[in-house]
Amino acid sequence: MRVLLATRNAGKIEELRQILAEAAPSVELVGLDAVPEYPETPETELTFAGNALLKARDGVKHTGLATVADDSGLAVDALNGMPGVLSARWAGSKKDDAANNALLLDQLADLDESRRAAKFVCAAAIVYPDGRELVVHGEMPGRVGREPKGANGFGYDPLFTPDGFDRTSAELSAAEKNAISHRGKAFRELASKI
Ligand code: IMP
Repeated sequence: MRVLLATRNAGKIEELRQILAEAAPSVELVGLDAVPEYPETPETELTFAGNALLKARDGVKHTGLATVADDSGLAVDALNGMPGVLSARWAGSKKDDAANNALLLDQLADLDESRRAAKFVCAAAIVYPDGRELVVHGEMPGRVGREPKGANGFGYDPLFTPDGFDRTSAELSAAEKNAISHRGKAFRELASKI
């Protein structure tokens, strides 16, 4: 079976491909670069699951392939779960990681360690051409630090220390992060159900 992962992020495609190789070896995974181009799906829903489903449904509509899509972000307890679905655009529409991190640090500046809990959340959806839909979630709990540390990863990784670690997720190797990450957990659960 050929399955589209509705992303141009080569890292996500490789991560899911490795997971599927064990969980569902008959699945051939392709990315958006391998199918005729169609307009980017606007992420207009208020939940990760809603946005993942929008992107997966759009993939089926434009390609006829069963389509997997994910949506993820950082949910900070003290901000009532924000930045949430606005994570990429928290400091504005430019999707600037450094500006997002600086704004988040500023917003949490007055909070001591006990009030800096947060989690990364990922919803991963699959939609089949016959209309069946499935959404699963993965979470990585931790806390937001006071300064960026580490050069790996992307987004809020330099600010985020996963529970059980004394390094930020930008100081973990890709394999260490995949083993505990919100996306790794969601992709592994989805792969077992494809
Ligand atoms: P997307 O689901 O790939 O569009 O991610 C949305 C945004 O959430 C990213 O632009 C990051 O700001 C943030 N984010 C999601 N997952 C991670 C992660 O694993 N590390 C750091 N930031 C993340």
